[in-house]
Amino acid sequence: MRAAQVAVRRDRHAQRHQSHRNSIQWNAAGTIPLQSHADGRPTIEAMGFPDTAIAGGGLIGLATALELVAPGYKVTVFDRNEAMSEASRAAAGMLAGNDPDNPPELRKLAQLSLRLYPAFLARVEELSGIKIPIRTTQTVQGSRRLPAGVQALSDSEVRALAPQAAIADWHFFLLEEQSFDAWDLAEALPAAARAAGIEVREHTPVQTVRTVPQGVDVHTATGVVSAGTFINCAGAWSSEFDPLPVAPRKGHMLTAMLPGPCQMHCVLRTPRVYIVPRGGGRYTVGPTVEDAGFDKQVLKEHIQELFHRAVELWAPLRDARIEESWTGLRPGSEDGLPILDHTEPNRWVATGHYKNGILLGPGTARVMSQWIQENQPELDLSPFRAARFANTPVSF
Ligand SMILES: Cc1cc2nc3c(=O)[nH]c(=O)nc-3n(C[C@H](O)[C@H](O)[C@H](O)COP(=O)(O)OP(=O)(O)OC[C@H]3O[C@@H](n4cnc5c(N)ncnc54)[C@H](O)[C@@H]3O)c2cc1C
Repeated sequence: MRAAQVAVRRDRHAQRHQSHRNSIQWNAAGTIPLQSHADGRPTIEAMGFPDTAIAGGGLIGLATALELVAPGYKVTVFDRNEAMSEASRAAAGMLAGNDPDNPPELRKLAQLSLRLYPAFLARVEELSGIKIPIRTTQTVQGSRRLPAGVQALSDSEVRALAPQAAIADWHFFLLEEQSFDAWDLAEALPAAARAAGIEVREHTPVQTVRTVPQGVDVHTATGVVSAGTFINCAGAWSSEFDPLPVAPRKGHMLTAMLPGPCQMHCVLRTPRVYIVPRGGGRYTVGPTVEDAGFDKQVLKEHIQELFHRAVELWAPLRDARIEESWTGLRPGSEDGLPILDHTEPNRWVATGHYKNGILLGPGTARVMSQWIQENQPELDLSPFRAARFANTPVSF
């Protein structure tokens, strides 16, 4: 096996976005402070009262913003960093709605999301002018035991789809499942949101949110924004705003480049590792699932272990070169299910999407916007209510 070169992730996003918006541009863009601190910092904004303020510019926040802006809501999305720079960028991008290992409670939300995905991606592409190609349309999944109702692939069928896959240890079956490169979506979605008229304020952490008679006051370091409603879409950081048991679940990932003609065109996945082809000899490999707090350091030994597992599953990768490696923090709730709720007057939460937030993004956005607009989401969201944690002590 060729020695793996572990490259710490080059921050493609940061390179492409040299000119971040900062507070000076924000003020120049049309907000007028009514009062100032002694050092000139604005304390209250006079213009641009949004109907909805969202903390978190990941997929959940931005997709929900896009749903709300379509019928005419005025929406502001705050992100402490750059939009789409956390879990939503780190993901493998598999829309694994038919994975038999998914919790059954997710099924209806996943099916809704899968139905919405083509139109969602088309809208993002149209608004942003950036393509988000579907990279794979099938997944060969290996399991220790064949799930009920699933037809096993023969060895020759596995080899036709994934040449040289290690078939000894697994029962394989085929899933019709798409994937795209989450980095493509991360480039396109913030641009689409802005083109749709959403105000996306990067590098503006929400500090606190206060409920007031006419809505909410959203406090940031540069001012207070009054809005009609607030949605907590802050991913792994969501418990900053609501007393919810949501914690970061760290995942390491890598991309390997495999020269030569041996290629695989479907996702190859087992409970130990997945290999996701991106085209042109690039393969994304993941993941680890770790409890490491908010630490995002890329650890060489974890990357090498992931690579080793991938080579065990698909031997041609032994000739690959590791090009990029990175980590992300999944927002994990205590039971691994999302938390979608109307927590108090004018306040909502959409978080805890854990391993399936890319899959569940458009569906979550649809039901949250229906709930906010009409008080009537089209799905029964009782499995996702925050009240299920009523007896769970939560520390802020
Ligand atoms: C390694 C890995 C692989 C994955 N693979 C898949 C996959 O293949 N398929 C799938 O469906 N899912 C996958 N997931 C899960 C998916 O990425 C997440 O569930 C999803 O991205 C969560 O989206 P989010 O918008 O809630 O969180 P994030 O994308 O993390 O967004 C939350 C945002 O909130 C911002 N924020 C935090 N605090 C504040 C504050 N105080 N004020 C303002 N902004 C704030 C953060 O900066 C961040 O941008 C994967 C996750 C990881 C880590």
